[in-house]
Amino acid sequence: MNITFYGAARMVTGSCTLLECNNVKMLIDCGLPQGNDEKTLGMEFPFDPEQIDYILLTHAHIDHSGRIPMMIRQGFRGSIHSTTATVDLCSIMLSDSGHIQEMETEWVNRKRIRDGKPPIEPLYTVEDADKAMDYFIGHEYERSFNVAQGIVATFSDAGHILGSSSIRFELTEDGKKRNIIFSGDIGNLDQPIINDPVLLNDADFVVMESTYGDREHPPVAHPSQKVSTEQRASSLATYIEQTFKRGGNVIIPSFAVGRTQEILYLIRHIITHNMIKGIKHIPVYLDSPLAIRATAVFNRNIDGYFDEEAMEIVKKGDNPLRFPSLTMSITSDDSKAINALKESAVIISASGMCEAGRIKHHLKHNLYRKESTVVFCGYQAKGTLGRSILDGAKKVKIFGEPIDVRAEIVKLEGISGHADQKGLIKWISNFTSPLRHVFVVHGDESTARFFAGYLHSHMNLSSWAPKAGQSFDLLSSDFPEAERESVWVTSLEQLKASISNLEESMNSTVGIINRMKEHSKSIIEEEDSKASSRLCGAMDRLMNEIDELNNRWGG
Ligand SMILES: [Zn+2]
Ligand SMILES: [Zn+2]
Repeated sequence: MNITFYGAARMVTGSCTLLECNNVKMLIDCGLPQGNDEKTLGMEFPFDPEQIDYILLTHAHIDHSGRIPMMIRQGFRGSIHSTTATVDLCSIMLSDSGHIQEMETEWVNRKRIRDGKPPIEPLYTVEDADKAMDYFIGHEYERSFNVAQGIVATFSDAGHILGSSSIRFELTEDGKKRNIIFSGDIGNLDQPIINDPVLLNDADFVVMESTYGDREHPPVAHPSQKVSTEQRASSLATYIEQTFKRGGNVIIPSFAVGRTQEILYLIRHIITHNMIKGIKHIPVYLDSPLAIRATAVFNRNIDGYFDEEAMEIVKKGDNPLRFPSLTMSITSDDSKAINALKESAVIISASGMCEAGRIKHHLKHNLYRKESTVVFCGYQAKGTLGRSILDGAKKVKIFGEPIDVRAEIVKLEGISGHADQKGLIKWISNFTSPLRHVFVVHGDESTARFFAGYLHSHMNLSSWAPKAGQSFDLLSSDFPEAERESVWVTSLEQLKASISNLEESMNSTVGIINRMKEHSKSIIEEEDSKASSRLCGAMDRLMNEIDELNNRWGG
């Protein structure tokens, strides 16, 4: 009974873990490594896909599912188990990813042919992605099923995106039993549309994500307090109101799956609850074929996936993602027509980081207009167009053309698909069984190690952030302790406390100086010469003491 970490080990993307029991080999997730992780891990599999018997998929995001078509291409012929909504989402996302692979390869090959080099093959094609769908088997939440002899699996809602799950395995090998839970990506509380993560409580081992293991979200997204849809929608409503009053457009670069539907849900709430007084008509354009298809997937997977609030709307016979002023722009002519509009509009388009897709056209037509607003609602990676706009670039290049940035640039807080440190701790604190070991994955190197150390020092858990390629026998009791990490966590916390103490002392010194300055003003007004000489004396003494400190500390 072994576990081997092949991806998202001390990094965030490329999730891929091998679990072996009774000589059955299962992959939990098979994601595409992205950005720097691609360079570290490489795209090729460190195992033979033909030898893998099953894949169990936590959710449809490409960093968890994106190499599945490659598995099929390289000889994998087993079943792929996931929730039914994940199957549905994968059918559009993997095919879109295949399309991107084909386009990128075509682009690379054009250059290779010019350089006299032989062309390369894409990692996989749209056709490979479509073929992969034949291997999927959909499951409902909380319905246990036999994967193979001695292996029972159950999906529980992880509250991260539609259909996302934590997977619990009950393994039996030679009469010995071990339960292991893969957290998947753990969602934030009170996310619009979908349910909160289900809290699990019983396992021997946990493989746990740690994306925000060292950070807390700003208060509005705080997992410990309830945030209403009204609160989430209020800043968006303000941006729309101010922009429409100026006669501009609201441009929302959005991720096609998840974020787009949350924005639609919030805008519907704004409109139906008349949150913007004085503006009766709010035209909204959804201009991304993938986002339109993803929205259709949401509409097909309501039962068992939507939360109570969204279900209330459904029960009334309404659609929580639709409203009369919403237009879906399917063709590129539809898309171009938006730019000819005379009235203000909200335009939601992909990609979320502005690197590709129709959003670039909308930015080109609106960034230079000071009446318009660009609302970012998701993570912007370093080096992307979205990041430079958000970081305050005054000029950007779009389709090779320099464009002045005069539009208002804002970030919508309070929408995050991931639990923060408090949310993660809440999730792991729910376990009542003694945990033999927690493997911390899906976090940057320093974050994953910090979080593993934190679990050890603050919760007395045996924990470790495994490295790519590291393997462990789940029947032995020999696991690396995160002692070194945990000592560092304590030191780091002491260091942070010392910094804030020092800042406090500095602020109170500044406070004394400010009080003296205030006092001097009244002395000047009252022409009180006695008080003046007393204050001069005090100021001189203080100055001497500060000078002494400066000399001693090399200032
Ligand atoms: Zn995810
Ligand atoms: Zn992920």
